[in-house]
Amino acid sequence: MKRNGKKIVIVGAGIAGLSAAVYALKCGYEVEVLEMHDMAGGLAMSWHRGPYIFETCLHWLIGSKPSGEFNRVWKELIDLDKLTFVNPHEFVRIETEDGDSLRIYTNADMLEAELLRRAPGDIAAISDFIHAIRTLGKFKLLDPSGGLAENWFNMLRDIPVMPLLMKLGKMSGKQYGSRFADPLLRGFFSTGDMGKLTAIAMVLSLAWMNEQDAGYCIGGSQALIRLFEDRIAELGGVIRYNAKVERIIVDQDCAIGVQLSGGEAIPADWVISAADGHATIYDMLGGRYIDDAVRKIYAESETFASYLQVSLGIARNLGDQPPMLTRVLRSPIAVDPETDLTQIGFRFFHFDPTFAPAGKTAVTAILPTRNYEYWANLRDHEPQRYQAEKARVAEAVIGVLEGHLPGLRESIEVIDVSTPATVIRYTGNWKGSQEGWLMLPGAGLKPFPNTLPKLDGFFMIGQWIMPGGGLPSGPMTARPAIKAICKRDRVPFEVRAEVHREEPVSV
Ligand SMILES: Cc1cc2nc3c(=O)[nH]c(=O)nc-3n(C[C@H](O)[C@H](O)[C@H](O)COP(=O)(O)OP(=O)(O)OC[C@H]3O[C@@H](n4cnc5c(N)ncnc54)[C@H](O)[C@@H]3O)c2cc1C
Repeated sequence: MKRNGKKIVIVGAGIAGLSAAVYALKCGYEVEVLEMHDMAGGLAMSWHRGPYIFETCLHWLIGSKPSGEFNRVWKELIDLDKLTFVNPHEFVRIETEDGDSLRIYTNADMLEAELLRRAPGDIAAISDFIHAIRTLGKFKLLDPSGGLAENWFNMLRDIPVMPLLMKLGKMSGKQYGSRFADPLLRGFFSTGDMGKLTAIAMVLSLAWMNEQDAGYCIGGSQALIRLFEDRIAELGGVIRYNAKVERIIVDQDCAIGVQLSGGEAIPADWVISAADGHATIYDMLGGRYIDDAVRKIYAESETFASYLQVSLGIARNLGDQPPMLTRVLRSPIAVDPETDLTQIGFRFFHFDPTFAPAGKTAVTAILPTRNYEYWANLRDHEPQRYQAEKARVAEAVIGVLEGHLPGLRESIEVIDVSTPATVIRYTGNWKGSQEGWLMLPGAGLKPFPNTLPKLDGFFMIGQWIMPGGGLPSGPMTARPAIKAICKRDRVPFEVRAEVHREEPVSV
C-alpha cells in the first residue's frame, strides 16, 4: 500500500475504531489504534471460563446475506466470507411459569401462522405486523458518507417503504405492542428498553432476519473482530494494547495527537475518537469544545441500560432448547436496590460448537439495570459485598432456569457474573451502556455530528454518534469520517468491496 505521508491516531479498538483503521489504511494513511484493554472488540466481546466461551454481544449481524445491502460494506473492510453464518428458525420463545408460550419465528410465514394460532383475536394487528416485516425487508440503508449522487438509486427504491417507516418511526415499541390484546405478544414489544425504542428497531430487525440478512456468525463477535485485526496487520496498521488515552493534545484548536496515561505523547495529523463519547468530550478534551447542542445531547438524551450477565457452563447437551428463551416471572427478581425484573432472557449457545465441548452448553442471561453506580461503588469500596451480590443474583437466575429445566443445577460446572462495573472497566462506556443512545420515537435515523464545535483535526465515530448503536454503526460512522479526512487532504477515497466467494457457508 502506497503511503500518503499522513498519520491518523484512533482511540479505541472496538468495531468503529477498527473500521476506521481499515478505511484509512486503504486510503494510504499511516494508522495507529490505541486500545486501553489487552484485546480488541470493546463491547463486541466474549471470554473464556474453563472449557466454555461466554459471548456478550452478538445476537445478529446485519449484512450477513451475500446479496444484502450491508454485506458490501463489511466486504470493503474484511473477508466476511471466512465466517459461517447461522440463521435460526426461531428467534425467541417467550414462556410463563404457568406453561403458556409464544414462539417468535424469524421466517415471516411461520411467524404469521404461529401468531394467528395463538391470538386469532389480534388478526388485524398481526396482519399489519407481518406486512411491515415483509415490506421493510426491501428497505435499503442509505450510505451516510454519500450525498444524493451515491444514494439516489436507493432513495428511489425506498420511496414505497417510506410511509410505513415514518409511521413506525413515530411510535414506541410500547405503543406498537398495545395494538395486541395477547399479553405475551404485547410484552414482546413493550418490556424494558425495547418498549422505549422506536418500533422501527424491532420490526426492521425481524425484517432483516426474515431476509436471512441478520445471521449469527460462528465464534460470535470475536470471530468478526479477528478478521479486522488480520486485515489491519496485512495493511501495515498498528494496534497498541494496554494503551489508555488520557488526553487529546490540542494546539490552536486543532487536535495534533494524544497523550497516554503513562505520559507518552503520540503526534498525529488527525485524531479520531472511537471511544466513549462522554469521556472523549468531557475528559480527553476537558469539556472545552462543546456548545448548546452537544450539552443538550449529553444532558437530555437517554442511554441504553447497562447490564449484568450471568453465564453458566452446563455439562449437558441443551440442543433441544430455543436459541433464546424469555421466562416471564410470577414474582420479580431483585437485581439491585433500584431494579426488579419481571422476566429473564436466556441464550442457549448450542448452535455454536466453538463455545463448549461436545455434550455441553454455554448459557447466558442478560439482566438490564440502570443502577450502574450501585455496582461500581460496591466493586470499588465493598469488594466482599460485591462478590456476595453477584452470587445472590446468579442464584436467583439459576432458580429461574431450574423452573424451566428441573434438575439442571446439578449439571452446572461454571458460573460467571459480570456487572455494569465490568462493562465500565473494560470498555469505558458511559453509565455502562450496552449500545450508547436509545433510538427514540420521532428522532429519525440521522447520526449526531461527527465533529465538535471549533475543533479541527478531529472526528468522533461509533455508537455514541449513531443512536441505536449496534455493530453496523462502526462502519457507518467510520466511512464518512475517513471520507471527510480524505477530502480535506485531497486524497482519493477509492475503497471497494472485495468479493472472495459468492456464497458464504450458511447453516
Ligand atoms: C449485550 C449486548 C448485546 C448486543 N447485541 C448486538 C447484536 O446482536 N448486534 C449488533 O449489531 N450489536 C449488538 N450490540 C451492540 C454492539 O456491541 C455495540 O453497539 C458496538 O460494539 C459498539 O462499538 P463501538 O466501537 O462504537 O464502541 P465500543 O465497543 O465500546 O469500543 C470502544 C473501545 O474504545 C476503548 N477505549 C475507551 N476509552 C479508551 C481510552 N481512553 N483509551 C484507549 N481506548 C479506549 C474501549 O476499551 C473499547 O475497546 C450488543 C451490545 C451488548 C452489550
